[in-house]
Amino acid sequence: MAAEGSVLQEDDMVDHRRLGRELELFHADPLSGAGLPIWLPAGAAARHSVEEYVRELERRAGYQHVYSPPLGKRELFELSGHLGYFADDMFPVLRLSADDEFVLRPALCPHHALVYRARGRSYRELPLRIAELGGMYRSERSGVLGGLSRVRAISLNDAHNFCAVGQVGAEVAEILDLIQVAHAALGVRPAGFRLSLRGPGEKYLGDDEMWQHAENLLRDALSGLPYVEAAGEAAFYGPKIDIQILDGAGRESTISTIQLDFDKPARFDLSYTDSSGGRSRPVMVHRSLVGSMERLFAYLIEVHSGAFPAWYAPVQVQVLPVGPEQLDAAEAFRRDCVRAGLRAELVGDGSLGARVRGAAQRRVPYAAVLGAREVSSGQVALRLRDGRAVEPMAAPDALRMIAGIVAAHSVELLP
Ligand SMILES: [Zn+2]
Repeated sequence: MAAEGSVLQEDDMVDHRRLGRELELFHADPLSGAGLPIWLPAGAAARHSVEEYVRELERRAGYQHVYSPPLGKRELFELSGHLGYFADDMFPVLRLSADDEFVLRPALCPHHALVYRARGRSYRELPLRIAELGGMYRSERSGVLGGLSRVRAISLNDAHNFCAVGQVGAEVAEILDLIQVAHAALGVRPAGFRLSLRGPGEKYLGDDEMWQHAENLLRDALSGLPYVEAAGEAAFYGPKIDIQILDGAGRESTISTIQLDFDKPARFDLSYTDSSGGRSRPVMVHRSLVGSMERLFAYLIEVHSGAFPAWYAPVQVQVLPVGPEQLDAAEAFRRDCVRAGLRAELVGDGSLGARVRGAAQRRVPYAAVLGAREVSSGQVALRLRDGRAVEPMAAPDALRMIAGIVAAHSVELLP
């Protein structure tokens, strides 16, 4: 991933680090450490909405969510192959005593393999889709770290789909569909699909036959879609489909990914009882719909210039009473918004013009203005952050409209 290491220039037109500071989305503190940003309340509110959306999308698609710890026994990562093939990207082993050593995990797959083999499995359970938004760690060099785009503590939207070999094609196609649904809601505009293959000079597991088989399955899934092939970009255990994005400076990186793995099921001796009563080995499909929360938000901040779709905007409605006489009505409307599940705040100080501009500068999608005329008629006047003004409408109708747009995960501000 050649483009990933490059550091954004300070004078880029749209730099998520500058916007992240201005909009108080996240904070980089030297005491926290390079590549270890802190999500501030506004950024956390947006991320929380995205996490809930993705979890619900997955739940409806038959995924089961788990929690697993971000560190595990050294032996787990020897078994998974990470210590043999991926150690350069991992933090050093943590040693409590000679026979008690731990690893900050660089991936969630080993724990999910343990979920699979926590009990016997039948073909009737497949595809078994185990999902988690989980923490993992990469020992990135400090020189390549910047904002959220490249970090050392990663929160990955991850899942491992255990399938019979014959199910892989349909499963990959279904994942591609889910990725496109999520991208549409988030306002992600992918730059293209990439089939990432083995390349010279890297370490890979498994034999040629396995790789050929996996590559053919992914090629089939991509048929009809435009894609490029990239040698040397595969995972060490198998080929993958990567969905690429461009950052504000036009540099490419991977956001969503689908990887085929015949190796870990063998290493962990995973099996299921097939329809004839025999034992068969499942295939493991590693997939991420939207990548890590960190890289996703680095991208979303830049592509939207901080003006997120209303459903994950940190503050969705700012209520602006024209004068002190409208304060009570404004507070009542704010409370109604909060009861309807919206993130709303009241701003009463300063001139109305300055407050409307301030709301737009903070990328708040809706400013709800209440003057004497609106209050006497039970209405609010909506001003959108892009400058559009909506004719005053009955307060409950305005609230229903905004709540409807939020519930639909629309990227538009009006129906
Ligand atoms: Zn994995």
